Amino acid sequence: MTATEQVSEQQARQVAEQAREVHWHQPSFGKELFLGRLRLDLVHPHPSGSAEAAEHGEAFLARLREFCETKIDATVIERDSQIPDEVIRGLKELGAFGMKIKTEYGGVGLSQVYYNKALALVGSVHPSLGALLSAHQSIGVPQPISMFGTEEQKQTWLPRCAREISAFLLTEPDVGSDPARLHAAATPDGADYLLNGVKLWTTNGVIADLLVVMAQVPKSDGHRGGITAFVVEADSPGIVVENRNAFMGLRGIENGLTRLTDVRVPAANRIGREGEGLKIALSTLNVGRLSLPAVCTGAMKWCLKIAREWSRERVQWGRPLGEHEAVAGKIAFMAATAYGLEAMLELSSELADAGQTDIRIEAALAKLYGSEMAWLVADELVQIRGGRGYETAESLAARGERGVPAEQVLRDLRINRVFEGSSEIMHLMIAREAVDAHLSVAGDIIDPDADTRRKAKAAAEAGKFYARWLPTLVTGKGQLPTSFTEFGPLAVHLRYVERASRRMARSIFYGMSRWQGKLEHKQRFLGRIVDIGTELFAMTAACVRAQRDQADASAVELADAFCRQARVRADQLFDQLWHNSDDSDRALARSVLDGRYMWLEEGVIDPSIEGPWIAQEGGDATHDVHRVIR
Ligand SMILES: Cc1cc2nc3c(=O)[nH]c(=O)nc-3n(C[C@H](O)[C@H](O)[C@H](O)COP(=O)(O)OP(=O)(O)OC[C@H]3O[C@@H](n4cnc5c(N)ncnc54)[C@H](O)[C@@H]3O)c2cc1C
Repeated sequence: MTATEQVSEQQARQVAEQAREVHWHQPSFGKELFLGRLRLDLVHPHPSGSAEAAEHGEAFLARLREFCETKIDATVIERDSQIPDEVIRGLKELGAFGMKIKTEYGGVGLSQVYYNKALALVGSVHPSLGALLSAHQSIGVPQPISMFGTEEQKQTWLPRCAREISAFLLTEPDVGSDPARLHAAATPDGADYLLNGVKLWTTNGVIADLLVVMAQVPKSDGHRGGITAFVVEADSPGIVVENRNAFMGLRGIENGLTRLTDVRVPAANRIGREGEGLKIALSTLNVGRLSLPAVCTGAMKWCLKIAREWSRERVQWGRPLGEHEAVAGKIAFMAATAYGLEAMLELSSELADAGQTDIRIEAALAKLYGSEMAWLVADELVQIRGGRGYETAESLAARGERGVPAEQVLRDLRINRVFEGSSEIMHLMIAREAVDAHLSVAGDIIDPDADTRRKAKAAAEAGKFYARWLPTLVTGKGQLPTSFTEFGPLAVHLRYVERASRRMARSIFYGMSRWQGKLEHKQRFLGRIVDIGTELFAMTAACVRAQRDQADASAVELADAFCRQARVRADQLFDQLWHNSDDSDRALARSVLDGRYMWLEEGVIDPSIEGPWIAQEGGDATHDVHRVIR
């Protein structure tokens, strides 16, 4: 396939579907929730790791905190658009590149819970640091090798990963959310593969020692082919980093455009089998996705701190800002949301460590919620700071005020809604899991390719399933005022979650009945369903966390506040499921695309620099900006 060849919507979906983990080997709180079943037993009592893991984790956090406080100057990273080499070297010496690697392979061996705490801490100093460490450990070489590598591969790569830097290379100029278009090729050549292609936006790519490269192996005799993952030495002949990309935020990241020309990679460097690359990437992300909400949690905590300090200090119209109701509402949103997101993150991470449940939905919900909410929280901080919110920390400091980087955090957080699964793609992915039970019984009814016999068989099976399932959605514990009383004042919220999860499941069923095969195109309907599920998971996590910490009344207050706010959002979403402008908006967008309202764009000048929308793959392989940090 050449880059310009078209991939149909159906082919794109097939590739995504093949990469999906089809089986549910363990119970899933999220999956049950979307089926209208609040399986509190899967998350309550709140799981917690061992005392040794906590002691080990706390000791590492203390060392990391000291390093961050004494050796890192965030203003230098922002000013120079680069993390100083000595900071990277110091992080290596601390073991920060091997936080999640087991000690037997030379890593620190942190639990998921403490790995996330470490990312939140380091990311709060400068989000570029969080990106550096998580791109290496959550999507780079160590995670897929730990999960899918052979023992030999683990012995070879993991000790190196504990002190070196890696990058993950999937995206290409013509391949973003849709991996079916993947163009990079890995052609078998004797016992090796020859890699050719261009990889875009490789975080850490400029300074990486090791790369995970996703490339298409062509089908041939003895080769099943398909998208495959390889570990590649970054200094292999034929690899050139042609550009260091610069962004709206995350100015310290070393993000590259990497060209691979006849790069020879031994078959021993292949992770898993041919054709398993995307599945490996997605499975890696099932847990790896938690690093993003971890960084978002850190950012929210910082926003809350600044909002509190500033809103007490700044007096306008005769009162401190925080006493004006409009500002108070923002502060309440920030505090409650920071609590709710941290509760989601903690619960998902503890579940990941316990290993008894499938957390793919919970981690995805936390990523989606964390990236969307952190953006709103940072935006509110900028608003509360007024003109100072828009001013850079350097400028504030230059004129003698505290250099608070509010505008920087807003810029830095924006990308979280795009990478590691954009919010739109996360909605679709989670919705796919949410309707999985329906598709597995009713799939053939709505499959345009299924023949009459398959459709009839599916209809009979679906009839049996729904006859059993629908009655379970009519009543539940949420209707009994005596339910969940062990949660004290929070019981009322869990009763709401129980009722709302059944209502959500009924809504999915109505949606399926109404639109059948067209449901997958009802992205806004599905998105709202997912957002409702997200609020319900977040409420559950907040209640379970507060119940664990109930000796502390302030935790219960925060959980209560969070649930009240989340409930308002969920109710609005329920309402919008059926009262919305989706149909007219779709028609309007089509007319916009057809150019019907181009007159509305008159009277302005487009300052964009001329060039194609998407670069052709030819480039300048002579200019290499790759550098090694030793
Ligand atoms: C700073 C930065 C760091 C990155 N780091 C890495 C990295 O380390 N490794 C790597 O491989 N990649 C990396 N990426 C790439 C990143 O993962 C992609 O930007 C992301 O996958 C989205 O792809 P795209 O930008 O091509 O957007 P597109 O896929 O072109 O999407 C554009 C918009 O359309 C929406 N959209 C697309 N398809 C659909 C659909 N079917 N339904 C509804 N909406 C849709 C998207 O949500 C998005 O809003 C990075 C990007 C940036 C900017």
